[in-house]
Amino acid sequence: MHFHIITLFPDMFDSYLNESILGKAIKNKKIKVTFVNPRKFVTGKYKKVWPDGNISLQVDDRPYGGGPGMVMRAEPIIKAVEFTRASIIKKHPKSSIFLEVQPPKPARGWTSKKILTVNFVPSAEKFDTKIAKNFSQKYTDIIMICGRYEGIDARVDKILKTKKLSIGDYVLTGGEIPAMILVDSISRQIEGVLGNFNSREEERVSSSEIYTRPEILIHNKKKYKVPPVLLSGHQKNIEDWKNKIK
Ligand code: SAH
Repeated sequence: MHFHIITLFPDMFDSYLNESILGKAIKNKKIKVTFVNPRKFVTGKYKKVWPDGNISLQVDDRPYGGGPGMVMRAEPIIKAVEFTRASIIKKHPKSSIFLEVQPPKPARGWTSKKILTVNFVPSAEKFDTKIAKNFSQKYTDIIMICGRYEGIDARVDKILKTKKLSIGDYVLTGGEIPAMILVDSISRQIEGVLGNFNSREEERVSSSEIYTRPEILIHNKKKYKVPPVLLSGHQKNIEDWKNKIK
């Protein structure tokens, strides 16, 4: 799985992607994460060369109809996504760009890519594990557009045929954390990313209450014990307990 992230702030991803399970998944080539900055695609009057030689590349503009905040302009984002799609297709000419349709099964020996483009919108359909699993099986490349400020010019979705997703009922300052959430949750659905593939919660009886050594934890002279059923070695009773706790 190759994640292509369209963001003004690629450095935000560094520490999270370099550590632990995702860091290992990237090193072991189970996943790949690359970035394209829409600022590089600013042209025309939005690219200004100042007398001192400084260049300003303006990615946003004021909203039509008034209101606070700035809107990310469509053009640099569309160009960044088209550049990303073209660079995938150049290497794999038989690739297809999908919205939600089921991609055809590739013929033997094909190295076709199945590309999905996601745009983050707080009020859109909510992302969940089912979607993560589905994406991990359906697509080889996921392009994610990270909005900032008041959001992105709405024409981007129509032109690029994006899949609009929200990560929850709250408004963040940008799409970078939502992109990170998709990378994380989709990656753990890919075989070889988790140490033990079957440790994915949805494949077993898991519980939110878990314990490890010591059996009795003493804090401020009080004893905190592990529930005895977990020490019983009786798998059926343990699973019943986990189902009850959930
Ligand atoms: N004015 C917009 C919100 C903009 S928030 C509105 O009312 O819908 C700025 C950016 O942050 C968005 O473009 C999106 O990329 C991201 N974002 C904020 N909250 C989000 C959420 N709950 N889920 C997914 N993306 C979110």
